[in-house]
Amino acid sequence: MRFSGLRVLREGLTGNKGWAPHWRDAEPKAEYDAIIIGGGGHGLSTAYYLAKNHGMTNIAVLEKGYIGGGNVGRNTTIVRANYMQPGNSEFYSHSLKLWEGMEQDLNYNAMHSQRGIINLCHSDGQRDAFARRGNMMIAQGDDAELLDREGVRKYLPYLDFDNVRFPIYGGLLHRRGGTARHDAVAWGYARGASDRGVDIIQQCEVTGIDIENGQVRGVQTTRGAIKAKKVGIVVAGRSGQVAAMAGMRLPIESHILQAFVTEGIKPVIDHVVSFGMGHFYISQSDKGGLVFGGDLDFYASYASRGNMPMMEHVMEAGITLMPMIGKAKVLRSWGGIMDMTPDGSPIIDKTDTEGLFIDCGWCYGGFKAVPGSGFSFAHLMGTGNHHAPAARFRLDRFRTGRGIMDEEATGSQHNLH
Ligand SMILES: Cc1cc2nc3c(=O)[nH]c(=O)nc-3n(C[C@H](O)[C@H](O)[C@H](O)COP(=O)(O)OP(=O)(O)OC[C@H]3O[C@@H](n4cnc5c(N)ncnc54)[C@H](O)[C@@H]3O)c2cc1C
Repeated sequence: MRFSGLRVLREGLTGNKGWAPHWRDAEPKAEYDAIIIGGGGHGLSTAYYLAKNHGMTNIAVLEKGYIGGGNVGRNTTIVRANYMQPGNSEFYSHSLKLWEGMEQDLNYNAMHSQRGIINLCHSDGQRDAFARRGNMMIAQGDDAELLDREGVRKYLPYLDFDNVRFPIYGGLLHRRGGTARHDAVAWGYARGASDRGVDIIQQCEVTGIDIENGQVRGVQTTRGAIKAKKVGIVVAGRSGQVAAMAGMRLPIESHILQAFVTEGIKPVIDHVVSFGMGHFYISQSDKGGLVFGGDLDFYASYASRGNMPMMEHVMEAGITLMPMIGKAKVLRSWGGIMDMTPDGSPIIDKTDTEGLFIDCGWCYGGFKAVPGSGFSFAHLMGTGNHHAPAARFRLDRFRTGRGIMDEEATGSQHNLH
């Protein structure tokens, strides 16, 4: 089933009776060439690119809940390529290019909107740091513009520019950054993979990983044992638990990140605005809700909900930056389980078990990575070789200390970047 304007028109005129389910809800087979554990954005995009780029179609994606129920459907949807460290810089640049062709590639409307991101600065030192970051982004082939105070005012006149503690000095504008409809990204990849023969199996929790003589043989699930010579672990906040099934102890802590949305209001915020000093960022959804968030809850947890002190902190930071939002009513808040590495950068690698691969550690930046991560992880699983833009995401950097990518220069502590 292909989507097109003509199809939407025809369906609209004939009672919308011709739409079919977007992907097959498959039953598990006894054996596959490859199994992907986790039907989040990264798992689904991995399956899609394994099928599309590497001709592997005898694949199952095993999801313990439902497609889109994890962080891929819980995030605040910011997509950008404004990283600075070698390793992250080329990876996110590649991922953003995939975003720019994704809707055509998948024939699916993910509402990708390149409305621009503005990171605000509040001191000379911070402006210097942004100038350096902007130069690195340009050197990587991405876009960056340093705005002075009046430059920011032109785009965001409603901010409090003269706040005593955080007066606005300027900002870094990344025009190709923006937002997307998060669950549509999961559905689009699920549909694309399913159309190429991949089995998407929901309500199927992996409870064990079978290993013999150092080689992976398959998995145990709540729907029975399934054999496979290749298994990819892509379970975000549950990475530590699932890797433990293969006897691994990962350098990952799981922390909660919250997000909030207000009632729908008229269009007012047409960029993504990030207020790093206050740990606050905001955008406006196409339905009109103000979508915003802040920092981690700061203690390890597997609860998909957040704590009240962090809610208070985020609201206070928001009102400090743009007092007008104090009038908006918050409709909902939620939390997601973040897989935090010590250096804030991800892992895409083989493991010591032959045929067992891992993709995790996306911290709070993994939505923008969905296409790039799937592309690179599929390359690794399909060919056995690292894909160049993700070649630095090695697991052993935490053992050897070589190749640490400390993006925020906060040192090796999981909850500080
Ligand atoms: C509040 C919030 C805001 C965020 N904002 C942004 C943002 O603006 N921009 C950005 O880039 N990133 C953002 N992120 C981060 C991003 O959402 C994640 O890094 C990314 O979605 C994680 O990858 P995923 O989509 O594959 O994870 P998930 O969707 O969580 O997928 C993992 C899946 O594995 C399944 N699973 C777990 N254990 C098992 C098992 N034993 N068997 C089978 N299946 C299993 C889970 O049910 C889940 O569906 C945010 C996250 C949160 C929570």
